[in-house]
Amino acid sequence: MCTPEIAFSHLVLQDGTRLRIPYWDLRSHRPGPVLLVMAAQHGNEISGSAAIEQFVAEIAPELRAGRILALPFANPLALRARRPHFDLGPEQPYIDSHQNMAMYWPGDATGRDSQRLTAALWHDLVLPATHIIDLHCYPRSAAPLIMIADQAETIALAECLGFPFIRLLALNEGWTGALRWQAGRLGKVVVGCELSGQYRVYPGEVQRGKQALLNAAGFLGLSPEPPLAAPAAKYLQMEKYLEVRAPHQGLFIQTAGAPGSLLQAGQEIGCLLSEQTLQCSSISAPVDAYLLRSCARPDCDVALPDQHQFVFAQDVLAVLAPA
Ligand SMILES: [Zn+2]
Repeated sequence: MCTPEIAFSHLVLQDGTRLRIPYWDLRSHRPGPVLLVMAAQHGNEISGSAAIEQFVAEIAPELRAGRILALPFANPLALRARRPHFDLGPEQPYIDSHQNMAMYWPGDATGRDSQRLTAALWHDLVLPATHIIDLHCYPRSAAPLIMIADQAETIALAECLGFPFIRLLALNEGWTGALRWQAGRLGKVVVGCELSGQYRVYPGEVQRGKQALLNAAGFLGLSPEPPLAAPAAKYLQMEKYLEVRAPHQGLFIQTAGAPGSLLQAGQEIGCLLSEQTLQCSSISAPVDAYLLRSCARPDCDVALPDQHQFVFAQDVLAVLAPA
């Protein structure tokens, strides 16, 4: 049993403005792992923030050992901008930014604002942690998954979280400033989770995120509740992904299930209705496969046209992972 304290990480922005970032600090009276759970490094990825709030309420009476640091809004500047990063304008994709804080760990207290954010959080939250769960959100057309370094301790934690898919990365794959890489170098166990859906708080994804955090707490011995049993996660290999492409242009009318669902070979994913001829082509899965992403451009949630289901010939209608 513990009462969550609200603590603050303090920093000064480039223009001299002071910023304080609140987090919950849950301390038991027994030694144990220090679990940092965080969300919303990207300000439009907010289901994880709600998951953390619910997790703290449920875990506080159960905490038996160790400590939990719970940071629902890692990037208040981007949250208030209601965009992935605080320097983006309408419909600008993630990559247009120079303030992507996820690239700037461990930060610089005298650098640009995103580096100042990471420097403060690194000192106050990352350094004390032994285990880190970093919640993000893919666009709602994409299946939820976990991305982790290919290390036994990290894999063991990731497998108990209850996510349907896991992708293994080399520890230094991606940006050198990624939290996974920088905190991993210090021997911390870092699990990156992608829920599904941006800009909105999706109740099903909040539940998925909250349960993942409860499972982690049980797995690490912070609470007496063992992780909830769930189907084993499937390991994804990007080089085996199949792209289903449009045979002609038209409106893609998707009929298959939600992202992450299992399709049988030959099962219809949808039909493609030509606006020129009204010809309608059935589009089906070539093999038994999981639907990882359906008709949409990458990072599509940032822009309405990118969510539009009119496609040109050879556009990607679905990305599948063979079962
Ligand atoms: Zn993100």
